[in-house]
Amino acid sequence: MPARVELAGFFIDGMMMNTPVQGAQIIDGVVLSQKLRAEVTLRVQALKARGITPGLAVVLVGENPASQVYVRNKVKACQDSGLHSVLEKYDADMTEVALLERIDALNQDPSIHGILVQLPVPAHIDASKVIEAISPAKDVDGFHIASAGALMTGMPGFWPCTPYGCMKMLESIHFDLKGKHAVVIGRSNIVGKPMALMLLQKNATVTICHSATKDLKAMTLQADLIVAAVGKRNVLTQDMVKPGAVVLDVGMNRTPEGKLCGDVDFEGVRQVASAITPVPGGVGPMTITMLLVNTLEAAERASQSHA
Ligand code: NAP
Repeated sequence: MPARVELAGFFIDGMMMNTPVQGAQIIDGVVLSQKLRAEVTLRVQALKARGITPGLAVVLVGENPASQVYVRNKVKACQDSGLHSVLEKYDADMTEVALLERIDALNQDPSIHGILVQLPVPAHIDASKVIEAISPAKDVDGFHIASAGALMTGMPGFWPCTPYGCMKMLESIHFDLKGKHAVVIGRSNIVGKPMALMLLQKNATVTICHSATKDLKAMTLQADLIVAAVGKRNVLTQDMVKPGAVVLDVGMNRTPEGKLCGDVDFEGVRQVASAITPVPGGVGPMTITMLLVNTLEAAERASQSHA
């Protein structure tokens, strides 16, 4: 049997504030997260009053140090908002068959509404097989093909947490996407592509750039909104940004001194952008917040289907 850690919790209340600074407005992901998590807590309490506690299972295989930090943060966030959470930790030599069996058991478990398998999994396990084994009704990471298809076709489903958090940040500054030109740099299945689809759904005109894009600067200079999701420092510099554009920085990198930074030259770009997310304290905290939102949503949907 796995190590099972049961958690209960409290919540942090807070108000969304955008700190005025010289140049761009800073979109503060910590403050916005606090506000959204306070709303989650209220909805959790309402469900609990009906005898349902939203539950998230977080599955970690192996000892990857970064993954250990991520799962701890996710579990703690559940605790803080009053959700039930279960952390299942397995040795790196767990077989694929054994992992698929655990996922099947969690799919059947009525106390679990969301299942998250922390990626990457060890090389001998096929990550896509694992993701497809999760019931789409519990796919709170939004990585299942059914979730991707639902996003593509505009059907109800779970949106991947990072781009979903970016959409909430745009909403918080009342950025109307209709008719705007959005440039997304990066085309991964977990950030770039779903981000582009979400922006398209809100009537933006979307350009997706990637490593084979010939003239990135020519693209970004046309943008009213730039989302950088690459994983390389200084991919976006001041000279690449149209004055007044909004810039969301998804990247997580390290400076040579070891400081956390994004893909955007923050100090330069904030001088020309109208709004910008910092790293740290921007998109990162929103990702976990949207995981809570998706888990809550999964529990609410399950309660409606059993009503
Ligand atoms: P990924 O799978 O490695 O994708 C990176 C994308 O960037 C690829 O599409 C790649 O193009 C493109 N790219 C690489 N070099 C480029 C260049 N010079 N110009 C334009 N495009 C370029 O990464 P990911 O999973 O999407 O993550 C991206 C970044 O976001 C990473 O730093 C990651 O740590 C961070 N992240 C943060 C959060 C958060 O919560 N804040 C969550 C998820 C990810 P090709 O497709 O052509 O290779």
